[in-house]
Amino acid sequence: MKVVVIGSGNITGASNSASYLIDNHIMIDMPNGCCKAMKKLGYSETDIKYLLLTHFHGDHYFDIPFYLLGRVHSENVDKNIYFFTSKDGIRKIKKLTKLGFPNSLDKIYANTVINYITNLRFSIEDIEVEKVLVDHGELKPAYGYILTRNGINVGFSGDTCLCENAEYLASKCLYLFTDCSKLIGNDKHMGIDNIEYLSDKYQNCTFIVSHMDDEVREELHKKKLKNIIIPSDGDIIEIAEV
Ligand SMILES: [Zn+2]
Ligand SMILES: [Zn+2]
Repeated sequence: MKVVVIGSGNITGASNSASYLIDNHIMIDMPNGCCKAMKKLGYSETDIKYLLLTHFHGDHYFDIPFYLLGRVHSENVDKNIYFFTSKDGIRKIKKLTKLGFPNSLDKIYANTVINYITNLRFSIEDIEVEKVLVDHGELKPAYGYILTRNGINVGFSGDTCLCENAEYLASKCLYLFTDCSKLIGNDKHMGIDNIEYLSDKYQNCTFIVSHMDDEVREELHKKKLKNIIIPSDGDIIEIAEV
């Protein structure tokens, strides 16, 4: 599995908002600025066929209208795309798209059929996916995902505090792309203290920290923790599946 870290930051920092491109056509979240960030890194957002959404804060889905409009102007795109989300999410995506481009909705929906899937377990081609509820303050629901291919589990926490299911993700996954927004975790986000705890407890897991504030990134580099990768925007994590 090839995972490109399109964004490794949070909304206040200089890095792109957190999102990941898997095998060039599966995307985890579509935050503000993500379509342009992909182009700058040499990827095309029109290659995305599957979008897994974690939750509905703007820094995780606000580029959806630009992605949809981009498809209108591209040739050779598959008409069918698949959004994995919640019922509330479907309503928000429709509303946002209408708000972004009210006069182009006919063109957008003539070119694209969005298949919405709200299941907790599903497959994408040869990848099995488990959707995992996490705790992210008052915003509900918020989800993480476990993608499994050839027996290798790769997790994506989305925004989460240290909660039972954040531990579940760490316990199940060989690689976990995870929230580490803060110096000290709170009820919405994990902090360096939480990552230190998880990395010590689940030593089989490699933690790829993300959604980092700039000072968190700096502090993590100083600490030199083991089994932790601190990615920059555009970094590629190749996960062997043998
Ligand atoms: Zn959030
Ligand atoms: Zn966020």
